[in-house]
Amino acid sequence: MYQVSESSKKQFEKMLGLAAVREGLEFIERDQERTIADQKKLVVIEAPTFHEEKRAAFVAERFKELGLLEVHIDRGGNVTGVRKGSGNGPRVLVEGHLDTVFPFGTVSGVTEKDGYLYAPGIGDDTRALAMIFGILRALNETGIRTAGDLVFTATTREEGAGSLGGMKDFLADHQDIDISLSIDNNDMSMLIFEATCGETWEVVFKGIGGHAFGAFGKMAQPIHAAARAVAKIAEFTVPEDPKTSFCVSNFHGGTDAGVHAIAPAASIKFNFRSNSREELEKLKEKIFKAIAEGAEEESDKWQKDRITWEKRQLGEVPGGFQSPNLPLVEAAYLGLRSLDIEPVFGRGGCTNANVAISRNIPALCMGRAFAPDQESKEIKNHSINERFPIKEAYKAVQQVFMVLLMAAGIQGEFDSVMK
Ligand SMILES: [Zn+2]
Repeated sequence: MYQVSESSKKQFEKMLGLAAVREGLEFIERDQERTIADQKKLVVIEAPTFHEEKRAAFVAERFKELGLLEVHIDRGGNVTGVRKGSGNGPRVLVEGHLDTVFPFGTVSGVTEKDGYLYAPGIGDDTRALAMIFGILRALNETGIRTAGDLVFTATTREEGAGSLGGMKDFLADHQDIDISLSIDNNDMSMLIFEATCGETWEVVFKGIGGHAFGAFGKMAQPIHAAARAVAKIAEFTVPEDPKTSFCVSNFHGGTDAGVHAIAPAASIKFNFRSNSREELEKLKEKIFKAIAEGAEEESDKWQKDRITWEKRQLGEVPGGFQSPNLPLVEAAYLGLRSLDIEPVFGRGGCTNANVAISRNIPALCMGRAFAPDQESKEIKNHSINERFPIKEAYKAVQQVFMVLLMAAGIQGEFDSVMK
C-alpha cells in the first residue's frame, strides 16, 4: 500500500487552499478550447526529428508573447524561456519535445470526430507544447509568484535516432536545473519516475570468405560464428523485476549472388535494457562474452584462420533509480487523487526524464491525455492513426500546474516539496 508522507500531504492541502491556485485550476478548465486550438496549430507545423526549426521558431514567438524572459534557441535547437521566481527556491524545468516520428508531408490537417482529434503527432508530443502555453496563461492570469525560477523548454531530437539528444545537450549546458518535469506520456494516470537504461550495438564478425564447397574446411565461417553467439544470447534469462530485456534485432550476412559462398562477414545488431544499472552492466558483460565465445568456437572448430569481431555502439539511453517515495512522486500522486484519478505506478520509462535522472536531478514524466477508459486509452501514438481524446483534457494541464507549484514552491506560502 502506497503511503504519502505527512509533510507532502500538508503542503499539498496548503497549496489547494490558496485562492490563486484554485483560480488557476478553474482558469485551466475554461482555457481548454484555447489549448486545443494551439495543439491544432502546432501539429501542422511538421517537425521530424532533426528538423524541428520551424516549430521551434513558432514556440519561441509564443514564449515571448506569453512573457517569458531570456527566450532563445540554443546550440541543440531547443527553445527556452524563463519565468523568474522570488529567488529562494529550486530551478524547475518543464519540458516537452518538439519532434515527431513522422517525415515531412505526413500531416495534412486535423480531423475531429467523436470527441477525438486525429493527426499524426497530435498527442506525442505536440500536446505537451500546447499544455505549456496553457500553464503560462494560467500563471499570468493568477499572477502566482513561485519561489524557484521556472524554465520552460521545447526540446529537439527526443524520438528514435535522436536518442534524447536535445535534452542531453540542454542539461549539459544548464547545470543549474534542480528539478525536471517532462510531459511525454499518453495516459496522465501513469506515474513515470523510473528510468530504464539501455544500449544498442552492432557487432561485425569477419573472416576470409570463399567458395562454399571449394574453400570448405579451409576457413572459419563468420555467419556461423554470429549464429553461435546469437544462440547463446537466446538462452539468457534475465530478472522480471527489475525488468530487464534483450533482443537481437538484426542479423545480416552474405549476398543474393553469394548463395554458394562462405560470406567474409556477418553482422548483428542488438538492444538491451534494464530498470537497474547493475543488471544492465551484468547483461552487457554476458552478451559480449557470448560474442567472443561464438567467434572463438567457430575459429577453434576449423583451426585455420581466426574470426575477428568489431563492435560499434549505435545508441545509449541513460537511466537511474528514484524511490517511489520521492516527495516529487508523492506530489504527483496527490495531484492525481485530487482530480479523482487513480494513479498507476509505471514500470520503467524511456523519456527525457531519463537524462535528468541519470544526472541525479529529481525528475518525473507526466501524461498528456485524460484517458479514463479502454476506448480513450487507444491513442496509437507513433502511428499515422494517432488520436487525442478531447474530453476533459484540461485535467492533464491542471496536474502539471499543481506538480509544478509543489516543485517550485510559492513565494510567502510554502517551500518546494523537495526541500
Ligand atoms: Zn514523445
